[in-house]
Amino acid sequence: MVVASLRDVDDPRRFRMGVHWRRRATPERRFVILAANARPTVLAHELGHFFGLGHSGVDDNVMSYARTGAPVSFDAAQIAKIRSAARGYASSKAFEPA
Ligand SMILES: [Zn+2]
Repeated sequence: MVVASLRDVDDPRRFRMGVHWRRRATPERRFVILAANARPTVLAHELGHFFGLGHSGVDDNVMSYARTGAPVSFDAAQIAKIRSAARGYASSKAFEPA
């Protein structure tokens, strides 16, 4: 979902551009939430979390916070993990309506 603005759940004084979030009580229900003014790579980053990726320390990796101005991308291992997770979701029918 896209919202006008997004406050940090742990520190409401801070604003976030996006989050991959789940309630502890219902961890199978997951959400990707974006602030309306988020950069396009924020959606890619949060979807990376949705598909199981953690943060990267490599500059200009989608899962990193460090940018040099170079094109931003996933690496080959991350792409393989996203594909594997997507296949798992598809075969589990996790995206079918309740
Ligand atoms: Zn992140």
